[in-house]
Amino acid sequence: MLIVQKYGGTSMGDCSRIENVAKRVIQSKEHKNANLVVVVSAMSGVTDKLVEYTHHFSALPNPREVDMALSSGERITSALLAIALESMGYKAISLSGRAAGIITDSIHTKARIQHIDTSLIQDYIKQGYIVVIAGFQGVDKNGAVTTLGRGGSDLSAVAIAGALGADLCEIYTDVDGVYTTDPRIEKSARKIDKISYDEMLELASMGAKVLLNRSVELAKKWQIPLVTRSSFSKDEGTMICNEEDIMEAAVVSGIALDKNQARVSMVDVADRPGIAAEIFGALAESHINIDMIVQTIGRDGKTDLDFTIPQSEVEEAKNALKRFESEVGMIEFDCEIAKVSIVGVGMKSHSGVASRAFKTFAQENINIMMISTSEIKVSVIIELKYAELAVRSLHKAYELEK
Ligand code: ASP
Ligand code: MG
Repeated sequence: MLIVQKYGGTSMGDCSRIENVAKRVIQSKEHKNANLVVVVSAMSGVTDKLVEYTHHFSALPNPREVDMALSSGERITSALLAIALESMGYKAISLSGRAAGIITDSIHTKARIQHIDTSLIQDYIKQGYIVVIAGFQGVDKNGAVTTLGRGGSDLSAVAIAGALGADLCEIYTDVDGVYTTDPRIEKSARKIDKISYDEMLELASMGAKVLLNRSVELAKKWQIPLVTRSSFSKDEGTMICNEEDIMEAAVVSGIALDKNQARVSMVDVADRPGIAAEIFGALAESHINIDMIVQTIGRDGKTDLDFTIPQSEVEEAKNALKRFESEVGMIEFDCEIAKVSIVGVGMKSHSGVASRAFKTFAQENINIMMISTSEIKVSVIIELKYAELAVRSLHKAYELEK
């Protein structure tokens, strides 16, 4: 059995915490009689500090040098963990991203992994070593050190697990798993034992920030079961796996809230073929991400077009849409909105899921501005001031506390 474990910055926060991690690693090795590859983050706060240093001399430091500096945080913790493991009588060795064979493209500070040459890792596993790998980094074909984007050590772990064909990839953080909704909003939110990759992707993209979306996508692609759990408790955490491997799938698994969207309303748009292509083409050119789109039925040669974009892209959108002013009655931007989503694979085979949500909103007197659905998700746009109330009422309506 081969397990890849990843420990985040809080778990690696100081020497006594690293000692705890070493004990955990040994426990897993002994209990499960497994070979272990451990991927680590830098101590929490260290990467931020290194970013700050690199920007001391210039507002736009050379990204190649930034990566050289940033990658050091993980090299330190990987070596410290190897030393801690050795001091407890275990064979352990640390590897930088380069030594671990992680080859990336050359886009510094947000490089993508292209290939992993696992031969050295495998050699050390065969010799009985616990292999500790510095996360968040790789090397490009010219030998320059690269980093994978903030939070990227999750990705390192999943990619390494995939390349090694590991049985399991465990991500240790400071939260004990994925919840039915944000526990800060609804106290009765419950930890989910098992959830499918697809549900997790829907929940994560909407603010359940437990795991990087790219890591979940990668785990799905490689078919590696992912577990997210806390390094500070014995709790089992949440397993993210194939839908087929979940015996009793819930109809609804969770409620997600996204407060970072803005609604764009274009009123009295000239209703002619090609207008949507031009409007959304202009937005795409400016790299603006469109989420929901609603177009009303045309009347008297005019139609209304509503859609949502990230709040951070409102200014760009205003610019991109300027050229349509003569063909549109009015363009409005509204940031006082929230998107609430109900996610669950069970929706595929159960009816009435959406209608229960609408009934709940009606009871609470919450007006729905937009609706969109997919096979496993119902999303609605409502006024921002009702966001928390909506989440709590839906959590209750679907009996998620049970
Ligand atoms: N240390 C890096 C960061 O803070 C990578 C990680 O923690 O995943 O972004
Ligand atoms: Mg992290």
